[in-house]
Amino acid sequence: MYFIGVDIGGTGVQAGIVDESGNILFKKECKTNVQNGFESVMDDINDLIRSMILENSLDIKDIKSIGFGVPSFVNKKGLVTCVNLNWHEVNFIEAIKKRFPEVDVYAENDATVAAIAEYKFGSMKDKDICVMYTLGTGVGGGIIINGKAITGSHGMASEMGHTIIGENYYDCNCGSNGCLETFCSATAIINYAKKLINEGNKSIILEFVDNKIENITAKDVFDAYRKNDDVAIKTINRFKKYLAKAFGSMVNTLDPDVICIGGGVSKSSDIILDGINDLVRENILYKNEEFCEIVCATLGADAGIIGAAFLG
Ligand SMILES: [Zn+2]
Repeated sequence: MYFIGVDIGGTGVQAGIVDESGNILFKKECKTNVQNGFESVMDDINDLIRSMILENSLDIKDIKSIGFGVPSFVNKKGLVTCVNLNWHEVNFIEAIKKRFPEVDVYAENDATVAAIAEYKFGSMKDKDICVMYTLGTGVGGGIIINGKAITGSHGMASEMGHTIIGENYYDCNCGSNGCLETFCSATAIINYAKKLINEGNKSIILEFVDNKIENITAKDVFDAYRKNDDVAIKTINRFKKYLAKAFGSMVNTLDPDVICIGGGVSKSSDIILDGINDLVRENILYKNEEFCEIVCATLGADAGIIGAAFLG
């Protein structure tokens, strides 16, 4: 039996055929033509999956289930709202069932999907209480307890990117002020480094981008950190300070076995995880007790396909 996992992003759709052990046997992708509307994107996904099955000489009967990770909120009725894709309460599950009546289909928030993959086959394997933070353009969250993804009574759970952990100098896209996402995402790193540079602080980051401040990436800031650049050190230390507040609050709330970081920013996990335990300890109530391990995700970008494949 095979599974299909599909990771829907704002620019592209990645699909894969996955075996029972979580190995991706075949991958294929297409563009997300958001401007053509929801039904058209669904048609493209239909073509992508059907061609993938054909190319591998499989039959739809060989596929146990198809799962989808979506960059959005999936409510209990299967309605999906995603600002990036311009989807507002679209009936995602029904649209997929219409195209694949022969197979079981599932959809879940992409950060939860990544957490499922890391729990089944990666850095959180077989742990009872698992929490994953995906640190990318924004911050996503996934919580797995005793093998079950916690999505809440209404599908709204595990949005740790929007837990409020302090007052910030700019508002979050969601309209609130102080969301974790505005302190601990790639966007937050870029914004803060720019702010320090605009305030007149000298930095080698500008050399990396030929003085085009608008081209700064989070990677540039981490690279500058490795060269002891003052602006980069201030920016990354601030990022870690607030990440530790979030992790400390999570320990106080759930006391997990493991906290895992994934997403693009976690490529610099050596810097992020260095000394993080001491920072987290400052934010937990029972300071002398042992607390969870904090690790980096191991499946990388494949977590989206693998986790989606095992949503069933
Ligand atoms: Zn927010």
